[in-house]
Amino acid sequence: MLNTADVLNLTGKVAVVTGGASGIGLATAELLASFGAHAVLLDINDELGERAVAGIRGQGGTASYYRCDVSSSEDCKRVAAEMDSACGRIDILFNNAGIIRRRTVVELEERDWDLVLDVSLKGVYLLSKYVIPIMERGGGGSIINSGSGWGLKGGDRAAAYCAAKAGVVNLTKAMAIDHGVQNIRVNCVSPGDTDTPLLRDEAKQLQRDEAAFLVDSAKGRPLERLGTPRDIANAVLFLASDLSSWVTGSVLVVDGGGIA
Ligand code: NAD
Repeated sequence: MLNTADVLNLTGKVAVVTGGASGIGLATAELLASFGAHAVLLDINDELGERAVAGIRGQGGTASYYRCDVSSSEDCKRVAAEMDSACGRIDILFNNAGIIRRRTVVELEERDWDLVLDVSLKGVYLLSKYVIPIMERGGGGSIINSGSGWGLKGGDRAAAYCAAKAGVVNLTKAMAIDHGVQNIRVNCVSPGDTDTPLLRDEAKQLQRDEAAFLVDSAKGRPLERLGTPRDIANAVLFLASDLSSWVTGSVLVVDGGGIA
């Protein structure tokens, strides 16, 4: 009989994580590698990306890094082909890279609207476009897209981000409908405020004291603390593994109850 440890065993699987050099992506790459997957980190921060790979190898895991701007069609196409020839398969894709600009529509410059939508929404489309055929060739896989509580309920002074993340939620459902026939599951993980460089940068963008901003961000949820990158990674592990074998098109909210 299969036990939980077998279902969570990712040995022989290749797991691609965008934005894998920092925060939630890094914690997820580390966790998936600790369960046996070969972690492939994609990012635009080469220094952090190489350091992350060294860290995973130092823990006994296997990992590689590719520079890939997920908003670039050429990058996604080229890197998908490179990963294919290096690994021969892709089983898990965590479309995690995302950026935020804390601006209302009036405050937002058009180039920042485009940047947020290009990285956080179009990037999901672009990399999936080139990875899905590789996954299909391997018999299927699991794609997890990074949403946000603000993609479900909106939020203040983050108009482009809220729009992008709402788009990710419905793109997830569309992809799940289209690619179930190829044995590819597609789900969305929707984090609440999680202590990462992105959250801390929001304090800067809002010209708030960082410590006070983090304390305020932790309030207003039943589990009154910020998320940790590992909290989100745990949910991605569930969606990536066969533990979630009949789950597709769903949004898993991981936010300490903040959406309630
Ligand atoms: P982070 O800033 O710590 O990490 C994001 C990583 O993405 C960085 O390594 C960065 O270099 C990389 N990146 C940025 N632009 C890229 C691009 N064009 N191509 C490839 N990589 C790129 O952020 P995080 O908090 O870990 O966020 C990860 C995801 O989680 C994002 O999609 C974010 O919107 C989502 N999220 C975060 C929170 C939170 O509170 N931290 C809440 C909800 C959703």
